Amino acid sequence: MFTPTITVYYGSLINPTTLTSYETVTGCLIAVNAHGNIDWIIHDVKDSSIQETLLQKGLFDADVTIVPLQEGQFIMPGFVDTHTHAPQVPNTGTGYQSELLDWLENFTFPMEANFQDVDFAKKVYPSIIKKFIASGTTTCCYYGTLHLESNKVLTDIVHSLGQRALIGKCNMDRNCPSYYIEPSSSRSISDTQAFISYVRSLAPGPSNNPGNPLIYPVVTPRFAISCTNELLSSLKTLVHLDTRLHIQTHISENMKEVEYTKELYPDCEHYAGVYDSYGLLRNNTILAHAIWLQEKEIDLVKEREVGISHCPTSNFNLRSGIAPIGKYLDRGVKIGLGTDVSGGFSASMLVAMRNASIASTVVALQNNPTNAPIKEGKFANRQLPLATLLYLATKGGAEVCVLDQQIGSLEPGKSFDALIVDMSNISSTSKWPGDVDPALRKISTTTSSSRSSSRAILEGLLEKFVFCGDDRNVFAVFVQGKLIGGTSYA
Ligand SMILES: [Zn+2]
Repeated sequence: MFTPTITVYYGSLINPTTLTSYETVTGCLIAVNAHGNIDWIIHDVKDSSIQETLLQKGLFDADVTIVPLQEGQFIMPGFVDTHTHAPQVPNTGTGYQSELLDWLENFTFPMEANFQDVDFAKKVYPSIIKKFIASGTTTCCYYGTLHLESNKVLTDIVHSLGQRALIGKCNMDRNCPSYYIEPSSSRSISDTQAFISYVRSLAPGPSNNPGNPLIYPVVTPRFAISCTNELLSSLKTLVHLDTRLHIQTHISENMKEVEYTKELYPDCEHYAGVYDSYGLLRNNTILAHAIWLQEKEIDLVKEREVGISHCPTSNFNLRSGIAPIGKYLDRGVKIGLGTDVSGGFSASMLVAMRNASIASTVVALQNNPTNAPIKEGKFANRQLPLATLLYLATKGGAEVCVLDQQIGSLEPGKSFDALIVDMSNISSTSKWPGDVDPALRKISTTTSSSRSSSRAILEGLLEKFVFCGDDRNVFAVFVQGKLIGGTSYA
């Protein structure tokens, strides 16, 4: 009988569990089957007991490839970037003296218009997607441009590079420059339908697991301002007939945008109400930014089980504002993080985590400058702890994408979408001057028992990775069990 090959990773594991906790385990065995799914995970296995443990699992040498992690390395789930713009990456670090609407007109639309040229798309998209993968993003929600053919190119490239993704063709048929606008709502809809069919016709991915695609189409009205009522009505019909379809759009990013939206939709009570009136708010909708939501909008978002993509880097750069993420978490809203390139200046989710930390700190300083004890809620007006940042960047993002049964944490039955993080250069001092191996310090902040001390070391490595790390620390990137990036990937 054919026995599928199993790959067993052996080493330290850091895994998000809840919004306020994560597990740190040493001596972990993680068995990944030929389909790229996790069969089982066993904690606290000593070197000398590996073979015995494998035999107990009915595995013999011939069936198994063992991959031991090195000192200073750990496994964690890959990052889920819930909002970014692939065609804006060439503009990274450009135009941050502008606010949203001017920035779109002067920098963003001119860049995106280049993708009319399919050869341009073929030339620039490969390095862009490789950058996201190298940063440790295993699942990414991409906005494309309005162009059908270039979005197919983007899809082909993401597919060939093996990343899991949601990809959307922008719908935009008003309030856009003449050189970058769809000619009619009917054309916008027919191109959207063609794009959805194209994405769904792709081969399922490396797992060859039927019904388990790596790429999903996502309906992407750019934002309310750029869509006519006619277009939104047609999108309403489209998504109503197909509840599997993800939806992504922007909401309440900038005050001028909010005001203009109210002018365009005077019959709607608020911004979220515009999308709701067109049936676009549901459990597989991703709303980016959500900085200026009214109380009633927060209630509506929660009621519709919509996810919010928090994009703090972009919100700082374009002076859009600071989203009160702690408040949303207390209200039970699903939250993930987004890099929002090129409003954001980095494709790395580590940068999004850092800025989410700073954003929460600024909110806390504004509303509670004396750091007085807060009675209500766990998160509002407090700095987000490391556990929460980790959760939002992985499991929270998976919930926002409604893929949390499959990805976002490492558990039996889920896909092996994972990173091997390498912090071994923490002791080589070449990268972070003054850093020494914690074991060499005479006075340590760790406690005496070896178990809690190894936990403290792993927690320290995670914090260092989040606040000081970059793609040089991303040793391996796996999607559905397949190695697709990292410094070990030639
Ligand atoms: Zn955006």
